[in-house]
Amino acid sequence: MPPQNNKQHGRKQSPKNSRPPARWSFMTMLGFAFLALLVVTSAYSYFVSGPTNVAKISLTELASDVASGTVASIDQNNSDLSAQYKNGEVKTTEAEPNSSLTDSLVHYGVTPAELATVKITVESPSGFWFWFEQFSPFLGSILFLILLVWFFTRQMRGAGVQALSFGQSKARVTMPDDTKQKVTFKDVAGAKEAKQELAEIVDFLRNPKKFLDIGAAIPKGILLMGPAGTGKTLLARAVAGEAGVAFFSVSGSEFVEMFVGVGASRVRDLFKMAKQTAPAIIFVDEIDAVGRVRGTGVGGGNDEREQTLNQILVEMDGFEPTEKVIVMAATNRPDVLDPALLRPGRFDRRVTIDLPDRADREEILKIHAKKKPFAEDVDLTVIAERTPGFSGADLYSLMNEGAILAARENRNKVAQFDLIRSIEKVMLGPERKSHILSKKEKEITAYHEAGHALISSVLPHADPVHKISIISRGRAAGYTLHLPLEDRRLQSKKQFLDDIAVSLGGYVVEKMMFGDVTTGPSNDLQVSTALARDMVTKYGMSDKFGAQAFEGNEGGRAMFGRGLDEHGEYSQKVSAEIDAEVSRIMAEAFAKAEEIVTTHRAALEAIAKRLVEVETIERDEYEKIIVAHGIQPKRKLEI
Ligand code: ADP
Ligand code: MG
Ligand code: ZN
Repeated sequence: MPPQNNKQHGRKQSPKNSRPPARWSFMTMLGFAFLALLVVTSAYSYFVSGPTNVAKISLTELASDVASGTVASIDQNNSDLSAQYKNGEVKTTEAEPNSSLTDSLVHYGVTPAELATVKITVESPSGFWFWFEQFSPFLGSILFLILLVWFFTRQMRGAGVQALSFGQSKARVTMPDDTKQKVTFKDVAGAKEAKQELAEIVDFLRNPKKFLDIGAAIPKGILLMGPAGTGKTLLARAVAGEAGVAFFSVSGSEFVEMFVGVGASRVRDLFKMAKQTAPAIIFVDEIDAVGRVRGTGVGGGNDEREQTLNQILVEMDGFEPTEKVIVMAATNRPDVLDPALLRPGRFDRRVTIDLPDRADREEILKIHAKKKPFAEDVDLTVIAERTPGFSGADLYSLMNEGAILAARENRNKVAQFDLIRSIEKVMLGPERKSHILSKKEKEITAYHEAGHALISSVLPHADPVHKISIISRGRAAGYTLHLPLEDRRLQSKKQFLDDIAVSLGGYVVEKMMFGDVTTGPSNDLQVSTALARDMVTKYGMSDKFGAQAFEGNEGGRAMFGRGLDEHGEYSQKVSAEIDAEVSRIMAEAFAKAEEIVTTHRAALEAIAKRLVEVETIERDEYEKIIVAHGIQPKRKLEI
């Protein structure tokens, strides 16, 4: 199984961008509004109805009482009349609207002489309570409305800010005086060529006059290319850190929104901001999200993406030669980029960052080892040797996993053993000890892995075996860890052929030992068939076609506007011949694998039996088993 280098790290976001605290929820607001309504209505009923033990009478009754002389005084408060009787009773009634109390009483037959015996006071309604009483019937609803409007404006304001900032750039800015987030070239291990190339840019940003005086045109765009996790983002930050300029960082995918034109407006905004803060670096991470080849129709075409890309190009073209803004971009898919991005005056400087080699890996490990306490036995050279194909990001998480393991086992120092275990964890995912195989499954898996290992040890161009295990990890039921003796830049046809035979080892053994095939080898088959096809169509490694390539990379094909399933570069007949050639390679590899497991069947059974017993065999023990069966372990790689 090949090492997987697709670990990615979340971008660290500067604390400046933290969101405002959460607003009151709708339910809380509704609760408050309801409570207010309750208070107001109960207050209203209290004030309006007054004390309830008072008898209510009609105005005519009051008039006749006044006429009979039993009433001592009448108190008028607005329309409310409260009559004090001579016997101490208090009765209330309502005055007629639009006529004075005396008029009403006279109207009901009270003579002025009788009226004179009654003391009438009209309380001028006190300002507040008067108005309160006037409005209290509506007050509840008004208050409720106000609350509702307030609540919605708050919401709207939130949304409004979003709608307004829609077209604004979402760039994260790191200012040069921000020492906490400062990264320099010292924090980036290895990548010597890249650093040299970028040192020139740093020089310009520090010292633009020197360049401008001599009439040198300053590069506008630098494209960092390399596999995921090789430190592209880190390097871009380091350039800003070294030069001491502002760093505007945005990810390509952040430009792409639902609405056409938003991305373009964000780009405009971003460039405007950067020009105001110049000297500055604009960093567009994962630029392939917006910078894919335009107009291929692959994925249905995307107007928004194209407009955004056009705007980036327009902005870069519009740079004055004296502008001290440099655009950096990163991608791990340079092959899919639109050629317009790579034209002179745009991203014409290209910096490639490769996976680190052994020495660089050691340097990267040292950087990430800094704040960790290590036991004496830790030897980072050995770790670097055992991690070919690891990216900087993988090495970072390896160190981290090591520390976690040590902490989990309550040790205060990280030991070599922790780091070794972390290699496999990063490479293959965590062990799934809970995933118990049945007795039969265990046996099949053991034979399957023993098959891979045995063929790998017998074939001269395959990688040596470091470890075999039938403890499932990630998606694999078991695994055989092969590691090359040294880093490889080039692979030969012989290596490929042996690799295919090794991949088929599991399948061959399952068939031979159990007369049946499980789903276990499915991934092995996919990988090896794809490899065989590449040998024929890309690398000119088949005898039949010799030195011909039938397929470029995807980008190359898409650039000519062809659909994905059309092979415009060769005929139907050739297509059938390619298929036949792939089948032949697979069949030969199968025969080779079969022959090896048949000849060394005793060794195969010994390995598998031991695996069932102990589940994991390390390199030393494994080599003892095969030596006992007359197979020499590999010490040097034949190329
Ligand atoms: P990329 O952008 O190429 O995918 P990053 O720059 O995001 O990779 O790298 C992720 C992390 O991996 C970095 O934050 C750093 O911790 C580590 N890393 C990668 N390359 C290096 C390196 N050359 N030196 C030190 N650390 C590295
Ligand atoms: Mg990155
Ligand atoms: Zn397998």
